[in-house]
Amino acid sequence: MLAGKTALITGSTSGIGKAVALQLAADGANIVLNGFGDAKEIETLRAGIEKDHKVKAAFSGADLTKPEAIEAMMTEAAGTFGGIDILVNNAGTQFVSPLEDFPVEKWNLIIALNLSAAFHTTRLALPHMKAKKWGRIVNMGSAHAKVASPFKAAYVAAKHGLSGLTKTTALEGATHGVRCNTICPGYVFTPLVEGQIADTAKARGMTEDQVKNDVLLAAQPTKEFVTAEEVAAFASFLCSPAAAQINGADLSIDGGWTAQ
Ligand code: NAD
Repeated sequence: MLAGKTALITGSTSGIGKAVALQLAADGANIVLNGFGDAKEIETLRAGIEKDHKVKAAFSGADLTKPEAIEAMMTEAAGTFGGIDILVNNAGTQFVSPLEDFPVEKWNLIIALNLSAAFHTTRLALPHMKAKKWGRIVNMGSAHAKVASPFKAAYVAAKHGLSGLTKTTALEGATHGVRCNTICPGYVFTPLVEGQIADTAKARGMTEDQVKNDVLLAAQPTKEFVTAEEVAAFASFLCSPAAAQINGADLSIDGGWTAQ
């Protein structure tokens, strides 16, 4: 379905981004991986994608909190593949703290990574997409792009901001064959959520089991975590011809969380 296209998935060395990269490779796209992690494991992932799916796969270790690193990553990807056709802005991090104690450097980090990085990759990817008259941008939002939870000021602000960036991108790309949407997952069991469990337990004075069952899954009526593979399948659908008229939408995959 995506043969001949190139997909850049930020934060794809782990969790949701990795699942999206594997799915888009299975769909036939060349892949640009990005993120941090063990160099050997990343190379195993990259080489495995090439071998299993007969596509090309590259890796950039760019730190997306740094605009100049994003520019270098985009230039390198364009040099290797001619340009990015599918951009999945997925890299993100979380920090849990009451607002009055929220460390300023954590606020700045989360806004830079979860919001500003998507602005930079999008502005740099758009000229190629417009020239090709085809592009797909998937922004990894969250239920927290629609509703808030206490102690997550920076994350909630960044994800609401990302939803605004999606809508503006969707309008500017609409007549150029470019589509941009936000996927809004509920809780997906990944390393990011594992970390939050410990932090939330500390912030709320609860045990980790209480956080899992009474805080995280309390919000999710299905009482089940979303899987990274389900989110990846959703991203794949948004790149398919059937999704051609889905544009500028905040699309929930949250077990009913935001229906309440
Ligand atoms: P994760 O921690 O498993 O993966 C995060 C990825 O981002 C990793 O590849 C990491 O190396 C990369 N990364 C971190 N800092 C980076 C930086 N400065 N520059 C480049 N890459 C960097 O997280 P995840 O749970 O897979 O989350 C992925 C996205 O999905 C995030 O945007 C997150 O907000 C969103 N999300 C997650 C959940 C969930 O429950 N896990 C729910 C809703 C939305």
